[in-house]
Amino acid sequence: MSTLVTGIGELVTNDPARGDGPLGLVARAALVVEEGLVAWVGPAAAAPDADARIDVGGRAVVPGFVDSHAHLVFAGDRAGEFEARMSGARYDGGGITSTVAATRAASDDELRGRLGALVAEMRGQGTTTVEVKSGYGLTVGDEARCLRLAAEVTAETTFLGAHVVPAEYAGRSDDYVDLVTGPMLTACAPHARWVDVFCEPGSAHAFDGEQARAVLEAGRAAGLQVRVHANQLSAGPGVRLAVELGAASADHCTHLGAADVDALAGGTTVATLLPGVEFSTRSPYPDARRLLDAGVTLALATDCNPGSSFTSSMPFCVALAVREMRMTPAEALWAATAGGAAALRRSDVGHLAPGARADLAVVDAPSYRHLAYRPGVPLVRTLDVGV
Ligand SMILES: [Zn+2]
Repeated sequence: MSTLVTGIGELVTNDPARGDGPLGLVARAALVVEEGLVAWVGPAAAAPDADARIDVGGRAVVPGFVDSHAHLVFAGDRAGEFEARMSGARYDGGGITSTVAATRAASDDELRGRLGALVAEMRGQGTTTVEVKSGYGLTVGDEARCLRLAAEVTAETTFLGAHVVPAEYAGRSDDYVDLVTGPMLTACAPHARWVDVFCEPGSAHAFDGEQARAVLEAGRAAGLQVRVHANQLSAGPGVRLAVELGAASADHCTHLGAADVDALAGGTTVATLLPGVEFSTRSPYPDARRLLDAGVTLALATDCNPGSSFTSSMPFCVALAVREMRMTPAEALWAATAGGAAALRRSDVGHLAPGARADLAVVDAPSYRHLAYRPGVPLVRTLDVGV
């Protein structure tokens, strides 16, 4: 069964072999899908026959968004905390405790229902790959439960037992790290692909560099790959630790020194920027231009979570990246697709060359530029090619 998708006014392939910059644009394009994979890409006039045909009427088609950083397994609501913050209260990561209490108290079905609704919300806005972290259970049983549920919706599951130090371990963070690197890791590793840690030495709730290293090295020894919440609230050791350990991604990267930028530029670690957080916490945005100028690979993701960034919208993050972080529309779209794939070390998503997964998103506009040009407008949907 093959399907011809035609009438594409502008196709973004992210295939540099097309010779039109990193986005690999093709005008008046078509694309053939076979067995869920891209089988052919080119001008519509040269398209081969196929069993079925979808005409998108001159709209733009882009690779489905790869949201490489999201926290979707939780219960509870923190709209009140958001309101307080918008009224002048400071954010220091402590509000996570209320989500942990609600998550522990929730049934599997409650958590599964919320998770499924958020994934559907993302898909409705063009996201076709999403990473999902644990981190609101913070007991051996609850972290394993959250990861089991996450694995029902994605292969990109991340063990984040070291999200915050739970209240019952207040003042005993080293004891909690022993739990995370011991019995909790043993229970969680079978359900996770990645290990992550909130490295933020300045926060009483998070983990310092030494603790972060212990968590990541233990995870790696258990067969997990590494990603790090780094340098979100202040400059610290997170980014350099991520690069040293060969992490796929250092996420946030809001407060960077020259040594951090140099480390990222010299390594293979992607810098994942999460502008929904700065928007939702009214904080200064990361310096995307400095990173781009240094040659660092950037990803954009939502960080969808109930405390610091409760948006599931990659188009919104693209618009923020362009307006607030001075990324070009092309740089922002690339980071939200191919960049996210790089941050997950995936070569089958984030681009639309032959052989890639046929994860297509249709923009109800003649060009991808409308993603940032028309912020807040529901222009993007995932295209179901039915194969
Ligand atoms: Zn996060």
